[in-house]
Amino acid sequence: MSPNPSNARSVPLQLRPEEFRRIGHDLVDRIAEFLKTMPEGPVTPGEPPSTIRALLGTGPLPAGGASADTLLQTSSELLFKHSLFNGHPRFWGYITSPPAPIGILADFLASAVNANAGAYILSPVATEIERQTIQWIAELIGFPASCGGVLVSGGNMANFVGFLTARAAKGGAPVKSDGLHGHPAFRAYASAAVHTWTQKASDLFGLGAENVRYIPVDRQQRIDVEALRDRIRTDLEAGDRPFIVVGTAGSVGTGSIDPLPQLAEVCREFDLWFHVDGAYGGLAACLPDASPDLKGLSEADSVAIDPHKWLYAPLEAGCVLVRDPAKLGETFSYHPDYYRMDDVGGEQPLNFVDYGPQNSRGFRALKVWLALQHAGRDGYVRMIGDDVALAQELYRLVEEHPRLEPGTQNLSITTFRYIPDGLSQQTASREDYLNRLNEEILTRMQEEGEAFVSNAIVDGRYLLRACIVNFNTKPEDLVALIELTDRLGRELHEAADTNKDNSRG
Ligand SMILES: *Cc1c(COP(=O)(O)O)cnc(C)c1O
Repeated sequence: MSPNPSNARSVPLQLRPEEFRRIGHDLVDRIAEFLKTMPEGPVTPGEPPSTIRALLGTGPLPAGGASADTLLQTSSELLFKHSLFNGHPRFWGYITSPPAPIGILADFLASAVNANAGAYILSPVATEIERQTIQWIAELIGFPASCGGVLVSGGNMANFVGFLTARAAKGGAPVKSDGLHGHPAFRAYASAAVHTWTQKASDLFGLGAENVRYIPVDRQQRIDVEALRDRIRTDLEAGDRPFIVVGTAGSVGTGSIDPLPQLAEVCREFDLWFHVDGAYGGLAACLPDASPDLKGLSEADSVAIDPHKWLYAPLEAGCVLVRDPAKLGETFSYHPDYYRMDDVGGEQPLNFVDYGPQNSRGFRALKVWLALQHAGRDGYVRMIGDDVALAQELYRLVEEHPRLEPGTQNLSITTFRYIPDGLSQQTASREDYLNRLNEEILTRMQEEGEAFVSNAIVDGRYLLRACIVNFNTKPEDLVALIELTDRLGRELHEAADTNKDNSRG
């Protein structure tokens, strides 16, 4: 009787090399066409979930297989027609960037080798490429190249790694082995404008989601350093254990930058870990005219950076840098007897499993490494500088416009709002109306898909917010945004007026 499976094993997932070549070429052709034509269409079709679900159907997983060729054809069409395109020249929502074309190809190449970058022995080249990528990112932003680091899925994870490393470094062995129970309350500090990752980190790492000390910000959304000092002193007097200060280098709302050198000073004064969330703005430290406040990230114990933002890596790629690499090992390294990875050819290899929370790890370094070399340092300085200049140009256009009011301008984020002609003077109901009107403008814009911004709320004002992390954007796209906002504002204001008249009549 022949064994089951036999040597002529039938493998439903297999593709013959010549089939793979043909289908792959077809796919590359379709992607190239998509990249060429996508800017002419909408940013997003703005469809609700039910529409998308109807396209996918509700059937069970088919029992039999299907042709790879057909599947890739139909799914290309599905994605190209029903996605939001963050590579569109008029996409400026949240902080999400277009993918570097070389990064698209790099992901394809990386998947083909399928390195498991958890251990050197499983990923010799991938591990060394990741090591070099991390070093280059550190150099680019002026962080000591002797640092350690690890690539993770994004800014949240990079910040989590920094947070837990801080807890291990400042709490020592007892906290690491036994947890926080029985210790004084561990305290983390950040500005009120910090990203929401702090809540998740504080929950995940045992402090409680609502226990972060959020310090007030000034008019520019920057942390009030004296208020921070006072809070730390008060907590120390109460017997708590302050251990980390998080500085923000480019807040997600307005791009504000905390005075990082002053935060470094506070951390030295109280012996605290200084972590910088530079997920968005950290990379702008490469600009020749970067502010001293931003450049102060070089003094941090750890920094979170998002290559899938200003390095234009396709999602996902985050990166954490830690000044003292040993601290990463002390936080994440364990030695179970089923992993024997400590010696390769008489050398001690770097095993990234020892530097972060992940075990098996993908080869996400390749897309970052290749993009860094494709553009080079000067190329990145130009692209990031151009994004900032475009955001400043948008601010200027807003200032000049009779019905637009500027809000804030930091890094590549510009905020503004629409104010209709002939609106009555400053009253609470006027502000309520403007908040509602601008929210409606945003909703309409996002649904219609001609351009895409998101929002910020500053001092109670609802603002439209354009974050330009987009190498496809040109000045003409900003003019289009101004005209679009004015048109939507007028239409919605007129409709509101008519409704008011109707309800009166
Ligand atoms: C984007 C961002 C994050 C979260 O990063 P993800 O990559 O979305 O996980 C955290 N902090 C700041 C300041 C950010 O801009």
